[in-house]
Amino acid sequence: MTDHRVSLVRCASYETAQVQAAVEEAVCLLGGIECFVKPGEKVLVKPNLLTDAEPQKGVDTHPEVVRAVIRLLRPVTKHIVCGDSPSVWGEKKDINKVYEVSGIRRVCEEEGVELVYFTKSRLVKGYPLTPWAFSCDRLVNVPKFKTHGFTLLTACLKNLFGLVVGMHKMKIHFDHPKALDLSRVIVDIYEARRPDLNIVDGITAMEGDGPGSAGTLKHMGLIAAGANGVCVDMVLAHLMRQDAFVVPTNKEAAKRGLGPQHLRDIDVLGGPLSDFVAASFRLPKASILAKLPRMPKVLSRLLTAFLSFKPYVDASRCKLCGICQKSCPAGAVRLSKKGIRIDRSRCILCLCCQEVCPHGAIDVRKNFFLRLVMR
Ligand code: SF4
Ligand code: SF4
Repeated sequence: MTDHRVSLVRCASYETAQVQAAVEEAVCLLGGIECFVKPGEKVLVKPNLLTDAEPQKGVDTHPEVVRAVIRLLRPVTKHIVCGDSPSVWGEKKDINKVYEVSGIRRVCEEEGVELVYFTKSRLVKGYPLTPWAFSCDRLVNVPKFKTHGFTLLTACLKNLFGLVVGMHKMKIHFDHPKALDLSRVIVDIYEARRPDLNIVDGITAMEGDGPGSAGTLKHMGLIAAGANGVCVDMVLAHLMRQDAFVVPTNKEAAKRGLGPQHLRDIDVLGGPLSDFVAASFRLPKASILAKLPRMPKVLSRLLTAFLSFKPYVDASRCKLCGICQKSCPAGAVRLSKKGIRIDRSRCILCLCCQEVCPHGAIDVRKNFFLRLVMR
């Protein structure tokens, strides 16, 4: 039977003992870790490590949440590995930098867990995915609760895009420039390797222009967990004060029968859902475009013709590091001594550049009509 339960547990800070207690309670409400992992099984712990950002920046899954998950698993199995494929970092030396700066290496060393690298790929459903996701008996997904300019929300489903090895992610972005197309890819990957358990770092979430440094930290003070990633993401969308199916990955997953058709079909454990809903939650500036598919087709087409946005570089914040150029799947970014230039004729509006900019120097400029609509 499909498990439509989601647990929500309060956690005020990243203090080790508090996080441990919250993660344990969240999984205990679901029946305990033994329901998801059998003794001696090999487990891949998959955090969201977007870039080489320090834990306090809130861009990556916090290392204390990863530590709590490892400690939860430890009594059941000692065969635990941890890894991710960061946004544009395909080479081992670059991945090492992300592991280092994010604090994940330190925690894994302290907890005696091997860090693995998603550098080799295996084609699954046509996608180059890490073999680690398949050689391990269990996948424990540990995403971060953040907004995303393209898919509105990044949590359980979007985190699985990190199973795609290194720079292959850029090609997939380029081949699927629309939010709905990319969402189909993400749901394909979710279908190819469904996590056995999802534990979300929602202590410090991100609102506004997430998921990178351009977003704004938002204290939500919670850990969310569930066996079904679609259910967890539907609940998180509700906590953002959004209809669950405004998130295109949720919509696509529900269409394929991977999750429920209504939020009311989810069994929320840990308290009334309304207690966890944010008083306010800012969406990304480009989010209106993610909502368009929910409008009647004629209206949606008409609006797409009028509503538009474009990324632009705030020269006062730009440090000319060149990471945006490296991440752009369309080759639209040029770096010169004078600064960064975006070739509008090439840009596919994927916002990968904004996602990876470590200095929050890439903003989104809305056109007149979009400003009017989003006022
Ligand atoms: S816009 Fe951001 S990523 Fe691009 S060069 Fe400037 S600081 Fe680096
Ligand atoms: S410039 Fe930015 S938004 Fe445009 S295609 Fe490149 S990464 Fe995507």
